[in-house]
Amino acid sequence: MIKVQKGTKDILPAEMPLWHFMEAKADEVFSKYGAKEIRTPIFEATELFARGVGDTTDIVNKEMYTFEKSERSLTLRPENTAGVVRSFIENGMHRLSAPVKLWYKGPMFRYERPQAGRQRQFHQVGVEVFGIKQPTADAEVILMAVNYLKALGLNDLAVELNSLGCPECREVFKTKLKEVIKPHLSELCPDCQARYEKNPLRLLDCKVEECKEIYAKPEIQAVIQSDFICEECADHFNKLKEYLNALNINYSINKLLVRGLDYYNRTVFEIKSNNLGSQNAVCGGGRYDSLVKNLGGEDTPAIGFAMGMERLASLIREKEDKKLDAFIVCNNPLEAVKFAEELRQQGINCEFDLTNKKFVKQLEKASKVARFALILGEDEIASNQVTIKNLETSEQKTVERNNIDLQ
Ligand code: ATP
Ligand code: MG
Repeated sequence: MIKVQKGTKDILPAEMPLWHFMEAKADEVFSKYGAKEIRTPIFEATELFARGVGDTTDIVNKEMYTFEKSERSLTLRPENTAGVVRSFIENGMHRLSAPVKLWYKGPMFRYERPQAGRQRQFHQVGVEVFGIKQPTADAEVILMAVNYLKALGLNDLAVELNSLGCPECREVFKTKLKEVIKPHLSELCPDCQARYEKNPLRLLDCKVEECKEIYAKPEIQAVIQSDFICEECADHFNKLKEYLNALNINYSINKLLVRGLDYYNRTVFEIKSNNLGSQNAVCGGGRYDSLVKNLGGEDTPAIGFAMGMERLASLIREKEDKKLDAFIVCNNPLEAVKFAEELRQQGINCEFDLTNKKFVKQLEKASKVARFALILGEDEIASNQVTIKNLETSEQKTVERNNIDLQ
């Protein structure tokens, strides 16, 4: 038997109400902020991710599904920011009046070790806001994330915040960090040894216990916890915190929060749940002011976030499948099929028994799948009427066929 691939899952009909709920709420909440949906292709040129996500990241180095076609290297998107930025540039969206607010949803692909909350094909819903360098945009993007989660009924979540500074002030920090870590270099995991040269900030992100112990040493912590960001970056961060305070958004500062992607500057944030075990992040985001220019566009500041929809789904209470409005109970297949079409034209969701079983069997089925049974017996057909049975209350009445009210 051919089975579903490791790290991938079917989303079965029973789960669909939950997915429709998450998608509808995204549209509803993000629209309130003036965001418009965008859909970009599932595969893009490999180079887009190498340049856009960064070739020092795990995503690009280990996790991409890359293949060749007609001598082109293509990759299934591991995230959607790079694709949205490509589209922003390609479609000249910098000419639109800022801010340009876009949101997306869809499948992403990463070759990682599958475990609870971690798949190889998973779904993200996310937002990108282009064109605003002021911290008002940071506050608004965080608000969009928090309010979306609230709309899903998720309140028990923690927002973590950090500022990575700008390339200038970060350079000084990186140098200091490397200095204090250097004596321990040989004790670090192979990944950290590579990060030490290529992207020292990512050292702080390491999940290996031995590395974490080293980074907990007082002289290293002193550097990590120091306020290294320059005055302008500090001003930006302070204003953001002021806005969040005024909006009653709870957050905590986490100086270890550096985010997996290379392109972030200034604000980075994550939203975590205490009910998810070790894969506890539902949302990751940050500012990426240099990415649009790096990918060949006009210099355009931007900030966004992405949420893992499987992780959201596991936090939301099951949604009940909606019942059909009506099930037609009738032993005359021709009448039944005509009547069903009439009802559907009127906007009523309905089915009838395609195998023409006995009346009682049809009624049993009706009470399982529908809110109302619409009974078309010989008498009803002759008089152009129908008997409506409310399957919750068992109330029953006979009405004209053109006067059906299923409230
Ligand atoms: P993690 O630390 O969990 O690997 P990440 O930093 O790689 O997360 P991002 O690239 O920021 O994650 O993606 C944003 C969100 O997408 C995450 O917070 C998570 O909810 C979800 N996500 C990321 N990778 C996966 C995956 N393999 N399976 C399911 N959800 C994922
Ligand atoms: Mg990851």
